[in-house]
Amino acid sequence: MNGPRKIAILGSTGSIGRNTLDVISRFPERFEVVALAAGENVSLLLEQAKRFRPRLVSCKNEALAERIRAELPPGTELLTGKEGAVAVATHPEADLVVSAMVGAVGLLPTYEAVRAGKTLALANKETLVMAGRLVMNEARSRGVKILPVDSEHSAIFQCLSAGRISEVARLILTASGGPFRTRPAEEFRHVTPEEALKHPNWQMGAKITIDSATLMNKGLEVIEAHFLFDVPAEKIEVKVHPQSIVHSLVEFVDGSVIAQLGPPDMRIPIAYALSYPERLPLRLPRLDLVAVSPLTFEEPDLEKFPCLRLAYEALAKGGTAPAVLNAANEVAVEAFLAGRLRFDQIPVLVERVLASVPVSPGDSLEEVIEADILARIHAEKIIDQLEV
Ligand code: MG
Repeated sequence: MNGPRKIAILGSTGSIGRNTLDVISRFPERFEVVALAAGENVSLLLEQAKRFRPRLVSCKNEALAERIRAELPPGTELLTGKEGAVAVATHPEADLVVSAMVGAVGLLPTYEAVRAGKTLALANKETLVMAGRLVMNEARSRGVKILPVDSEHSAIFQCLSAGRISEVARLILTASGGPFRTRPAEEFRHVTPEEALKHPNWQMGAKITIDSATLMNKGLEVIEAHFLFDVPAEKIEVKVHPQSIVHSLVEFVDGSVIAQLGPPDMRIPIAYALSYPERLPLRLPRLDLVAVSPLTFEEPDLEKFPCLRLAYEALAKGGTAPAVLNAANEVAVEAFLAGRLRFDQIPVLVERVLASVPVSPGDSLEEVIEADILARIHAEKIIDQLEV
């Protein structure tokens, strides 16, 4: 390796961003942080800037920027908004961009990172859910490597090295089942945000934790896996695995099944993406097979968790349907957290938006973003009609 790998992070103050910086800080000779983009948490961004001395940082808007501008270390430039995030994503010195913003806002800077030829460590699911074909075509034509950070996709990526993509019979994504796996569906109308925010195995941000509770997270991951690995939806299955130790599996045509296991710690897949194709000697607690036994698997309950079914339906519809699904779900989760929508109404809202927003082929980023905006408008209207 010629000197440290230079890293830019989109979403540096979120859960993935903080874990990425934790991994980087353990290997200062291998990585250098050149640019960081955050949202509203500028006090943490400032701390990160002082510690890692990037050339560029970016936050959501000017008002937030004013709070930290005077305290930034000399040599750290400060930008804001969409332009700032894109500047981080395309920073001329960056070799690898970690895409870890939450939600649809991550799409544009991630797309620009690919267009700039940066190796991508991808944690932002929405990029491939909304614009999978566009982004993958762009990456292929530029020879850009996309390394998955999501634990399931990292697992599949690792398992795939045991065979050829043409030899794959099935991808099996595991799902923890979330906090309501065993709760009767009739009680879902009373679920509070506090309950839904308690994930049994993973420490994550609010949006993805709610998505895990509805299984929409797994639905988005199925769509992501379809585009990332170019495997048709009918060969992608989900199994509920409450222990979150087997992160996913690949079955090959000869019946061999390769699984990737490990403690549920995001630093492991993050480190793999950062250092690929090498593995870093992470000093983290190791997997104790006996302590985590037994490992169990069950079918997902699609009646209880309709979001997973809706994601398969959106993928089958194709075009901008997954972008519509995603936008409707983002609005639904926000409304649920704000007390404007019940937990059991999240899939109801998503299903109605999917049925009411026309699907277009999604051949350009503009078309995808238009579908996203239209879906949000429809979702807000439907929320006003639903009774909490
Ligand atoms: Mg995941």
